[in-house]
Amino acid sequence: MFKTFFSVAQTNPLWTQGKIKNYLPHMTSGEVTLLVEKSDMVIIPVSALEQHANHLPIGTDLLNGVEICKLIAQERDILVVPVLMAGQSPYHMGFAGTITLSAETIIKVHLETVQSLLRHGFKRFVIMSDHNGNDAIVELIVDQINQTTSGVAINYYEAIEPFIKPVSSYGGHAGTGETSKSMYLIPNLVNLRNVEPTVRSLPKHLENMVQSIGSDPTARTIFLAETLKDECTGKKTSAAEMSSTGIIGPPLEMEKTNVKFGESIVLAQVKAMTQFIDKWNNLVKR
Ligand SMILES: [Zn+2]
Repeated sequence: MFKTFFSVAQTNPLWTQGKIKNYLPHMTSGEVTLLVEKSDMVIIPVSALEQHANHLPIGTDLLNGVEICKLIAQERDILVVPVLMAGQSPYHMGFAGTITLSAETIIKVHLETVQSLLRHGFKRFVIMSDHNGNDAIVELIVDQINQTTSGVAINYYEAIEPFIKPVSSYGGHAGTGETSKSMYLIPNLVNLRNVEPTVRSLPKHLENMVQSIGSDPTARTIFLAETLKDECTGKKTSAAEMSSTGIIGPPLEMEKTNVKFGESIVLAQVKAMTQFIDKWNNLVKR
């Protein structure tokens, strides 16, 4: 056994990734220098490591976010820079495997990343997150870059909004849309055989409110303020307190969950982002 192991040189059989264009971890320093001469634009996926029920991996938001950024970077020259795997996910801690970091930590890591990239000549930054729990943090990262550095930063979702139709019936956390998207982006990590029906439990006043959140914006605002919060707040709205499976929101609709739906969500975003990049380049052209 040992003899074979030491006498035959072989590469890691787990390593199956090909080199991806414009993806910082795969590039050489020389390639980065060549890229910044063509484009000063960077996209940073802010990630999360959190439970996604038993049919999607802990790294769903991390992996989907990075994969979407890579697809964008094949269409236009933009540097993809993932620097942190975990994000803000305190309300998922009731399920094993979730990692949560403070907003301060996440903001600091991303600001220092931008400061490094500014030294190499990059100037424009798109901050994206495939995890709703990071939304407020992304806003702060964008504002801090704009207020405290020579860089210019944009929130990914604000960037694509004018170029994209909102997806109807996307579903919630680990639901129809996210599962379909994962089937397209990370197919070998999705296991639909593990989908189970979710038993939902909400505090009574929120259970009463849930019927009207689709039609009443005030009910929706209050509902979102109270739900998906850390167990320690006593609101009884952490993921484990609200859902037996970890799926949050509308039930996963198996008949609507498929790779084609996932592809349509992803490709619409990639196309919208390329349109935004073209427009940003045109608007700053002198
Ligand atoms: Zn997710």
